[in-house]
Amino acid sequence: MNTKFPYAFLKLPLEIERLPELAYNLWFSWNDDALDLFARIDRERWDQILHNPVRLLLETDPAVWESMSRDEDFIQHYQRVMKHWDAYNNEATWFQKTYPDHLQHTIAYFSAEFGFHESLPMYSGGLGILAGDHCKSASDLGIPLVGIGLLYKKGYFNQKINAEGWQHAEAMSYDFSRLPILQVVTDQGDPLIVDVPMADRTVKLNLWQVLIGRNKLYLLDADHEANSPWDRELTAQLYGGNQDIRIAQEILLGVGGVRALRALELPTAVYHINEGHAAFQGIERIREQLESGVPFHVAVEVIRASSVFTTHTPVPAGHDAFPPSMVEYYFSSMFSKWKEHKQAWMKLGLDNAKPLFNMTHLALNTAALRNGVSKLHGQVSRNMFRSFHGSIDEKEVPISHITNGVHMKSWLAPELKELFDRFLPGTWVSNQTNSDLWRAIDIIPPESLWEVHMQLKERLLRYARANLREQRRRNDLPAEKVEEVRGFLSARALTIGFARRFATYKRANLIFNDLNRLDRIVNNPDRPVQFLFAGKAHPADHPGQEVIREIYRVSQMDRFKGKIVLLENYDIHLARYLVQGVDVWLNNPQRPYEASGTSGQKAAMNGAINFSVLDGWWEEGFDGSNGWSIDGNNDADSSTQHRENTESIYRKLEQEIIPLYYNQGQLPVQWVSRMKRSIQSLTPAYNTDRMVMDYTNLTYIPTLRRTLSFIANNYDTVTKVADFKQFVLSNWHYVRILEVNDGGSAAPAAKTGAASGLTDTRQPLKEVRATIRFGPIWYKDTAVELIYYEERSDGWHQVVVTMEAVKELEDRVVQYRALVPSHLRHRAHFSVRVHPISSNFATSFELPLVTTL
Ligand SMILES: *Cc1c(COP(=O)(O)O)cnc(C)c1O
Repeated sequence: MNTKFPYAFLKLPLEIERLPELAYNLWFSWNDDALDLFARIDRERWDQILHNPVRLLLETDPAVWESMSRDEDFIQHYQRVMKHWDAYNNEATWFQKTYPDHLQHTIAYFSAEFGFHESLPMYSGGLGILAGDHCKSASDLGIPLVGIGLLYKKGYFNQKINAEGWQHAEAMSYDFSRLPILQVVTDQGDPLIVDVPMADRTVKLNLWQVLIGRNKLYLLDADHEANSPWDRELTAQLYGGNQDIRIAQEILLGVGGVRALRALELPTAVYHINEGHAAFQGIERIREQLESGVPFHVAVEVIRASSVFTTHTPVPAGHDAFPPSMVEYYFSSMFSKWKEHKQAWMKLGLDNAKPLFNMTHLALNTAALRNGVSKLHGQVSRNMFRSFHGSIDEKEVPISHITNGVHMKSWLAPELKELFDRFLPGTWVSNQTNSDLWRAIDIIPPESLWEVHMQLKERLLRYARANLREQRRRNDLPAEKVEEVRGFLSARALTIGFARRFATYKRANLIFNDLNRLDRIVNNPDRPVQFLFAGKAHPADHPGQEVIREIYRVSQMDRFKGKIVLLENYDIHLARYLVQGVDVWLNNPQRPYEASGTSGQKAAMNGAINFSVLDGWWEEGFDGSNGWSIDGNNDADSSTQHRENTESIYRKLEQEIIPLYYNQGQLPVQWVSRMKRSIQSLTPAYNTDRMVMDYTNLTYIPTLRRTLSFIANNYDTVTKVADFKQFVLSNWHYVRILEVNDGGSAAPAAKTGAASGLTDTRQPLKEVRATIRFGPIWYKDTAVELIYYEERSDGWHQVVVTMEAVKELEDRVVQYRALVPSHLRHRAHFSVRVHPISSNFATSFELPLVTTL
């Protein structure tokens, strides 16, 4: 396979001939020195073309290159960047050192959106930026990861806000030949095309390669001349269109993605499904297995073993689901060839309660390892999908969590990097997950940190004024209204940022509940406060657009003019200014609907202090002294939560945040201490290096090893596992707990807990016996457990005591025993359960079979 390099036509002078190599690798997006290098070629144009180095190269006059190649300073800068780039490519990576045996395998990471940089706008918000940051850290750590996604002709949309405060979604149309991407071509030089069967036809996809440091991302697009006009539009817009377009996009991503991996001949061993959109990859891979003669139930096991699923949506309605007939229609060619498996296939995604084909159900049923994206979200997801696993405790549901992070090199302000370079140990960037190293933040003189912060804040405010002036000019406001903006926003005022997608659960307008109180907060002449808002609402989300309008309306009121502002077109570029320049990052979603959130993590590493509802990542990140919580009764109904959260926001602003900010004049030493606490306690944990290492250690490597052992020796192990599961599923009804004998309260053989490892070692114990009939199932293929609940300081906890087999009473009837605190009575306090186990299961409750008495 080949990649057509358009820049082969771009003949640059010898002295700078590798510039195109730099422009076509998104590595530039996380290297300030490389970005500066492009900027100095033509600063004004660089801003106009949204920092797209490919456009800069293609649209710059050759005479300019001649003169650049004679500019000594430029050449020096160029050589420094190239040296850094070469060193990056040659250094020994964490993955090479940690997993030298697994370098030859590929981990495929599927996502509907990817956000790396403003020059490649193929994202809508947090999910895409997380995917981009994931790939960047994977490159930094040397993880053999390949991204799979779609290339959208129109991207998401550009947001314009009109003079009435309505969002206008401006459609874009990108010229792919001017983006930092390259079309993949065959060895003969023809574009490589991926065919995807869909309903009664085949859709042809172009394949594009994006270089992400050491790694690659492949994007598929349907704008191919052999497709019908309708099909050519399928990848026009991210999250655009109706259910038909949505399912078609998900087929192109899942099925097309797998086919792209095959066409590229990548030895893929792990398939990571980033949110349910990509779950059709499992359907396609089962089909592949069938084609090569593998029985259906074995095929499912192969796919499960090699898939990892990350769920991102704690809102039940947020999970994609389609009418079953629609799925049958789109997969009709596959189903007509494999008629006998259609039911089993559909069952993998069916949500019987609806009844709909649910992409999250499909992903859960076809991925052995699954996780949420924060500790709290893990818990919410276990609760949400508990019914998948029989009657077990919420904590036992096999969905774990890996908390999101952000890519530090992309989000940390260059000025702060310089400051940290002076005071932190030299390896602070590559060892960013080491919290000891961040203690050295303490030795930064408060005035130095404050000075850099003020610089960043002024830069943000300048940028914000320019954004507002442009808004007004475009909306044809009179000249004095445009000029008035020069007086808006003051660097002296406590500056609070609020930017995110305007989904209604994010409650962007919460702070407007009591405008008079807000007025007193904002307009105190001695202690002024200002708010910057930004965010897009999905074009179909009308309530979200109403929220934008409300913010706009408040921003136009005389009393809030120039102090509450709404900036347009929130994207990576604007986000960078905001998270680097504000004093406080406000986040007040309705708990627990924020799965993680990441913007607060970007803000924290830049010294902005989080003020947030204890939801998503902040529920575990907040330690009492590194920011503020917004409080309220989490279990109350939503209007009570709104009221209590609002009250908490006003009260903490009035009584804690504003006084702390203004208590020491020019240099607020205590405020700076809190900034330091925030930076040093949060940065080492909430970065994507930590996150991607967690994914690697906890999911990718176990998945890879398990997959390889499963398929070794001609699928020997996976066949046994699949047969075992089938056998157990069809014979489990024979398993019966015949009797539990709890020996009464005064057990004759009372011992104390010291002998049994129970938590309270002074409790008198007694022996409990259980008699179980197994039928055709071998008793050693099960776990027999005694379950009770124990009250500890933080609530009730399930205690699981493994029962040991004592003797076989008759054919297939076995007696078990265990020691428990003697006051426990069967049924009233404890129960006994049996469930199937196997050393080949990825988790303890892989089969939804639990028999309890
Ligand atoms: C970081 C980021 C997000 C996600 O932030 P949340 O905290 O999840 O709202 C969304 N959009 C942009 C442009 C971002 O940079």
